[in-house]
Amino acid sequence: MIAPELLLTPPQAKTGDFYTIATLGSHSALQILKGARDEGFRTLAIANREAERLYRSYAFVDEVIAIDQYSDFMSLVPELETRKVIIVPHGSFVAYLSLEDHKQMRIPYFGNKAVLDWESSRELQRQWLTRAGLRIPRQFRTGAEIDRPVIVKLYGAQGGKGYMFVRDAHDFEQRAGKLARQNYILQEYIIGVPAYIHYFYSSLTGKLEIMSMDRRYETNVDSLGRIPAAAQEGMDVEPSYVVVGNAPLVLRESMLAHAYRMGEDVVRASQELCPPKGLFGAFCIETIITPDTQFYVMEISARIVAGTNPFIDGSPYSYLNYSEPMSTGRRIAREIKNALLSNNLPAVLDDSSRLR
Ligand code: AMP
Ligand code: AMP
Repeated sequence: MIAPELLLTPPQAKTGDFYTIATLGSHSALQILKGARDEGFRTLAIANREAERLYRSYAFVDEVIAIDQYSDFMSLVPELETRKVIIVPHGSFVAYLSLEDHKQMRIPYFGNKAVLDWESSRELQRQWLTRAGLRIPRQFRTGAEIDRPVIVKLYGAQGGKGYMFVRDAHDFEQRAGKLARQNYILQEYIIGVPAYIHYFYSSLTGKLEIMSMDRRYETNVDSLGRIPAAAQEGMDVEPSYVVVGNAPLVLRESMLAHAYRMGEDVVRASQELCPPKGLFGAFCIETIITPDTQFYVMEISARIVAGTNPFIDGSPYSYLNYSEPMSTGRRIAREIKNALLSNNLPAVLDDSSRLR
């Protein structure tokens, strides 16, 4: 057990000097590396040729390794395995590396890779959320079953690309041709407002924190309301859900207790599904809140999400727990530092991690 005062205001740990925190140069890398530097670690960005100069331009990035494309990352693994490097994964890892790639590497890795199996399959994710007792949108097996508006989600779609809004069974029948030979799910379209809730669960203390919240800015769905519905008629404009940014959000306080409980439930269920460690570190529950204030959960992300980027300087929620700017990226580095200080680094790493 670590002394609580150490968790709140740890000294500038010397331990951090020996470790480099590394991540891919995209997504939330700036936040992760700034947080790592603030906690006393060395920092490494692995960036493509286009992003290389950007990451070099920041004083808190100690080292940049350039690769042609992010999917070439695996060719660096043998070299990184010989160094005292800890990888902090984010959404680009999932987007550019396969599940097998993730499992193959032995570089110390923040988080639990076992959770990846449950997260990467829509069906398993549904089982996880159901086990946690969360409310999820209905799913239809066939077009004929559709009795309300649905969103068609292609398997492996990145950032909402290729999603299709379908009004009813007839609409689906007319457009099903576009989906030939593709794998997709038909999910009930929830009419409400999206809220993406960012959490951090500490495997060292067993405590869950709400770090921040965001709403996404998606093109073109977030601008359709700017064109009157009557003018849209006959324009043949399709909503798309491609994310381009994120805006900060705070939740009506009477809804906060429910948001906190959803986080606890997801962690508890993950400990049953992937014992003993379950889900730890940063994660996000993507919700849509309906007019009767019900939270529908669309998805869970088992790592830092880019929606935390508006809070590099901390959020209203992280300010309640820390008397200093505490981004999710910095919270991750603090957790790694606390683990080092208490001689318990394996507790915050995947079990495949080979320590040097
Ligand atoms: P990228 O490296 O930008 O291609 O992002 C990798 C993955 O993270 C993709 O699936 C993106 O959709 C997702 N992503 C990137 N930036 C954001 C963002 N600002 N908000 C939500 N998701 C994002
Ligand atoms: P996702 O890939 O699940 O993160 O979804 C991308 C975007 O599609 C979300 O940010 C929402 O705008 C929209 N979306 C996804 N699922 C639903 C749903 N069941 N009902 C309404 N909108 C949705």
